[in-house]
Amino acid sequence: MKILVPVKRVVDYNVKIRVKTDGTGVELANVKMSMNPFDEIAVEEALRLKEAGKAEEVVVVSIGPAKAEETLRTALAMGADRAVLVETDAAVEPLAVAKLLKGVIDAEQPGLVITGKQAIDDDSNQTGQMLAALLGWGQATFASKVDLGADKATVTREVDGGLQTIDVKLPAVVTTDLRLNEPRYASLPNIMKAKKKPLDKKTPADFGVDTTARLKVLKTEEPGGRKAGVKVKSVAELVDKLKNEAGVL
Ligand code: AMP
Repeated sequence: MKILVPVKRVVDYNVKIRVKTDGTGVELANVKMSMNPFDEIAVEEALRLKEAGKAEEVVVVSIGPAKAEETLRTALAMGADRAVLVETDAAVEPLAVAKLLKGVIDAEQPGLVITGKQAIDDDSNQTGQMLAALLGWGQATFASKVDLGADKATVTREVDGGLQTIDVKLPAVVTTDLRLNEPRYASLPNIMKAKKKPLDKKTPADFGVDTTARLKVLKTEEPGGRKAGVKVKSVAELVDKLKNEAGVL
């Protein structure tokens, strides 16, 4: 079986985000970019399934600017076999991403697609779900455990009330949650090897997908700062404030 993993290049999660002075978005100039953390988890899971003999090939796909090649090379250094870059400088929204991924999937015919549950830049949490709908496949979102059988996947999902375990027929789309695994670091020799792994370049036009934005950003604002706290003199005063001011007791 082939596993396909979409990976997005996003602002690194350690970066303190700054809003552009004209409010049109977030400052991206000279900012460290990395693989979306949930996508690292997706790559790790695909590699573990391959190492367990449940898959033969792991293909990673990114939709983004030429620099997204770095993100794909990181996934190749972790152990993925092959990469596809759908190159575009446009900001591509989840529906267009899902349509482009469907184009790649129609050509690649994987038995399983593992996406992140959300990209930490726009926090959309839509692409995996839309992709499953476009493909007419089952979906298991927010996965914290994946068991792959011959024709089905048994997936434990993180839901509000706890954990839910479901079976989905393959092929299917699984989206990763934080506790699924801990992604590996790429070793230096593997980073060198990754430079020579195959990376195929495409454009949205190759798939006949229109990436024109459907959403209009009206404004972007920094979150309001937190008010300073107060020091209390005693436990009794703390309990009193919790009861009468915070309303938590
Ligand atoms: P989102 O719906 O934007 O929160 O993204 C959910 C998941 O879809 C991400 O974790 C990725 O696995 C995948 N994805 C979203 N955008 C892209 C992109 N431009 N290129 C590759 N994968 C993407």
